[in-house]
Amino acid sequence: MKDLPHQKPYLAVTGLSSGYGDHEVLTDISLAIDRGSFFIIAGPNGTGKTTLLKCLAGLTHPQKGSVTLDGSPLNSFNQRALARRIAFLPQSVETAFSLTVREVVLMGRAPHLGMLGFHKEKDLALAEEAMSFTDVLPLADRTLDALSGGEKQRVLISRAVCQQPEFILLDEPTSALDLAHQVRVMDLMERLKHERGMGVVMVSHDLNLAAMYADTLCLIHQGKVAALGTPSDVLEKKRLEAVYGCRLFVEKSPVAGTVHITPVPARFTTS
Ligand code: ADP
Repeated sequence: MKDLPHQKPYLAVTGLSSGYGDHEVLTDISLAIDRGSFFIIAGPNGTGKTTLLKCLAGLTHPQKGSVTLDGSPLNSFNQRALARRIAFLPQSVETAFSLTVREVVLMGRAPHLGMLGFHKEKDLALAEEAMSFTDVLPLADRTLDALSGGEKQRVLISRAVCQQPEFILLDEPTSALDLAHQVRVMDLMERLKHERGMGVVMVSHDLNLAAMYADTLCLIHQGKVAALGTPSDVLEKKRLEAVYGCRLFVEKSPVAGTVHITPVPARFTTS
């Protein structure tokens, strides 16, 4: 894939191989993600999804190939410059739990602060606005350790919103959430895309949510792109059964008209 002049900021992965020491986890991955799109990475456990997301965040480096933002390799940006453009939410976040929600959200301004690191009026206003957008303003003076999992997740998203990046990268943000909170996080991501023009890149195991929200779905299998395209193109029964190694029942969701997948328990499978 060649880097072509592009109207919008975008992330491009070209011939990427990456891994840990001698262990190659990702092999020859190529894809492009536009700002203002919702891009979901799915696939079985241990197949390289988190590693790919970390490569997109500039935290893990290519052994071969490149990851570029607007055509410039991620390693040509310093940490602060990259943090102004890409926010990364790992699966679990170690935070100083005695901090209040407002303090945690304000941390999102760090890459934008001047030499002395003081917050200005504008930073405080952006934190209030980000808390309002993610519906955590009523929690602003509570400490993080006093919050539920769903609330904490929204606070961390709020911090990322406050960071004002072009791309927000999230690693399984809905995996510990109940159904209402899952849909709330996904709706929030959809609003970030529509109202702020952010690119949302998410690792998710939930193919049914992915089918309803993703503009582009990337299915990773054994470190390679098994399929890349719209959810309806990617979520093909035979392909999924081969990749996940289990029987699946695939139908059309009466809610969204998208593909809906149910894994079939062994007792219902013949042969
Ligand atoms: P997934 O997100 O699809 O579950 P990961 O990207 O987390 O997969 O992991 C892919 C492979 O890389 C796994 O075999 C895992 O054990 C290995 N791996 C992940 N992180 C590290 C690390 N920090 N050091 C060494 N190996 C790792």
